Amino acid sequence: MEGENLYVFRNDISFSMLILHADSKKMMNKRESKLILWMNKSQNIRLLVQTGFLILIIWMGFQFYGFVRYFESDGLTEQFRRPPGVEGFLPISSLMGIKYFFLTGDFNPIHPAGMVLFMVFFLFALLMKKGFCGWICPVGFLSEYLWKFGKKIFKRNFVLPVWLDIPLRSLKYLILLFFVWAIITMSAEDLKNFLYGPYNRIADVKMLMFFVHISAFGLTVILVLALLSVFIKNFWCRYLCPYGAFLGFLSLFSPLKVTRNPETCTDCKECTSVCPSNIKVHTKLRIHSDECMACAACLSVCPEEDTLKFRVSKKAKKSIPPWVYAVVLVAAFIIVTGFAMFTGYWDSAVQPEEYQHWIHQLDSPELDHLR
Ligand code: SF4
Ligand code: SF4
Repeated sequence: MEGENLYVFRNDISFSMLILHADSKKMMNKRESKLILWMNKSQNIRLLVQTGFLILIIWMGFQFYGFVRYFESDGLTEQFRRPPGVEGFLPISSLMGIKYFFLTGDFNPIHPAGMVLFMVFFLFALLMKKGFCGWICPVGFLSEYLWKFGKKIFKRNFVLPVWLDIPLRSLKYLILLFFVWAIITMSAEDLKNFLYGPYNRIADVKMLMFFVHISAFGLTVILVLALLSVFIKNFWCRYLCPYGAFLGFLSLFSPLKVTRNPETCTDCKECTSVCPSNIKVHTKLRIHSDECMACAACLSVCPEEDTLKFRVSKKAKKSIPPWVYAVVLVAAFIIVTGFAMFTGYWDSAVQPEEYQHWIHQLDSPELDHLR
């Protein structure tokens, strides 16, 4: 009898364990499927990547401010290390550095991190569309939430008529042409004078000071642009950003594009309704537009399987899921910047003593870039 009881008891335990095991397996499956569902929502991953880069940029901003304050206060405040990544905000200097590199083979040591970052985003646009704008750029990120806020409040965003939209969109290309033309016409000697001159050496501090001691005019311009972005999707990016124009031009050559399968498409127009660049996705087979930021918003709402995908050609059987796109983007960024750090192409050659000297003379005529 005792043995029988023990047997029943043991069986109960194993049964309960089985149930427990089955339950935990169910829970695991539920958790896993939730994760898979979450991963499939490409916009969640995009938000994660955008937030990560925004936090990184805010952290760099504070570090750099602490670095400059230390010299401004003659060592009375806490000392911070200068984050070389701030050079990513000096694209004109980087473009000049790249031309100088091709002319002379000399890798400009004043803002090397700026050049490395510029080249990463340059190559990325060439191979995988304007992912920088849709997944990394903090201005694009903030701009996106401004128009989403506008849509929530006013229940709509405004779309400019074609006769106004097209000439306005060309503005960013005109601004880009102005800079590119100015750099193209510079000789190696001119480039060297600029790159090694005092203005470029301290350009990162000048840029910081522009925001720290912003003028009434500068602040008004930023506020007007922010207000316009509440009503019109990505106003700055769509009409004025020369960096976006440059990446958009390169992205025309990218083999990877949003591709629609007309055989399975039901013409529901969901894709078009969510596109922040106002592209008529449901009418295209491949999105060639320079305005496509590879944000994958259209992919995330398409209800039909295997219809709207990132593909390298119309006929390509395999597609690239947005989460793979995100992994490649982040991995490329980490690998290239890590390699640059490891090989000595990251830290600036400008010495702390120079910062100490120039930070007290920011208004000096020697730092006038038009000289
Ligand atoms: S076409 Fe799709 S991926 Fe391109 S910008 Fe529009 S929504 Fe984003
Ligand atoms: S959301 Fe998908 S099914 Fe609907 S129109 Fe766009 S591509 Fe076609």
